[in-house]
Amino acid sequence: MEKVYNFCAGPAMIPAEVLKKVQEELVNWNGLGTSVMEISHRSKEFLAVAQQSEKDLRELLAIPANYHVLFCHGGARGQFAAVPMNLLGDAQTADYMDGGYWAHSAIAEAKKYCEPNAVDITCERDGKKAILPASEWPLSDDAPFVHFCPNETIDGIEIRDLPDTDKPIVADMSSTILSRPIDVSKYGVIYAGAQKNVGPAGLTIVIVRDDLLGKAKQVIPSIFDYKVLFDKESMFNTPPTFAWYLAGEVFKWLKDLGGLEAMQKRNEAKANLLYDFIDSSDFYKNNVHPDNRSLMNVPFQLKTPELDGKFLEQADAAGLKALQGHRVVGGMRASIYNAMPIEGVQALVDFMQQFEQTNA
Ligand code: PMP
Repeated sequence: MEKVYNFCAGPAMIPAEVLKKVQEELVNWNGLGTSVMEISHRSKEFLAVAQQSEKDLRELLAIPANYHVLFCHGGARGQFAAVPMNLLGDAQTADYMDGGYWAHSAIAEAKKYCEPNAVDITCERDGKKAILPASEWPLSDDAPFVHFCPNETIDGIEIRDLPDTDKPIVADMSSTILSRPIDVSKYGVIYAGAQKNVGPAGLTIVIVRDDLLGKAKQVIPSIFDYKVLFDKESMFNTPPTFAWYLAGEVFKWLKDLGGLEAMQKRNEAKANLLYDFIDSSDFYKNNVHPDNRSLMNVPFQLKTPELDGKFLEQADAAGLKALQGHRVVGGMRASIYNAMPIEGVQALVDFMQQFEQTNA
């Protein structure tokens, strides 16, 4: 089969080495004669998977002891509801910084539970889309937490600043988790759908500071209650065991490659290769200011949208898959998560160069 590189924003590429290992052990996992999918989540074999994966994730992200890791259902959108239900207490509002599509969607969900103080933090800098410095984000006094989305998957915007506050910071890290080291101690809650940098869809990672457990309103569904999930070790109901196991294999892969410092270097090299090429060309453009360009999701436009169909068709035929931008923004988008090798980005750049030569 020809070499295929999948630039999908999610579900996204899983490291080829991990897929191969999973395939090899699929029908006879751990010498049990069955797959890992078919055993009880409470079996000692699966509990070992659960423990090891949490240990590896803690090591990768240097998660402090006063933080809990929850392996949940419901995706990031589930967390859009779970966060206010768990953290509002008696408050009527919370601070929600709006830097793009996903932060905006979290605000829409939060409106069911409170009157969010929604702040548009986008701006224009040098004619490009950018984000206001965090020191200029107007926060309210009565908000029990500040929510933001550090990587806007659709807009291709990354926010490296953190809100300037003593309140718990809640971050939707769905499309940036594990792409580089972070200081977990600066956050109250970090959550992420797995289907970009962690593993298959169906698993959601939540990292929550100990003092934020047990604040949930009584009407919260138990499967979203951080305290219940912690007390039951993420097994209040049957967890997505296969996705959890596979995530554990991805964590081992990351550790083998040298952890998140090494991953950051790889990711910066990939992103620079693509952005530098786009900036050097008159045919392609990316309209995000360099201060806020995403390491993971690179949207770009062709000289004229009339060429979009031809570009996508020829890219697909060349083994470069899923480059179509999100329907709300159009154009192209290359998602270059951890599992995308630099060879894939080089293949994309080579294709773009050749497409430009024949269509400029
Ligand atoms: N937040 C971000 C930043 C995302 O990229 C996505 C999915 N693309 C979501 C939330 C929604 O995730 P899910 O489909 O897991 O609910």
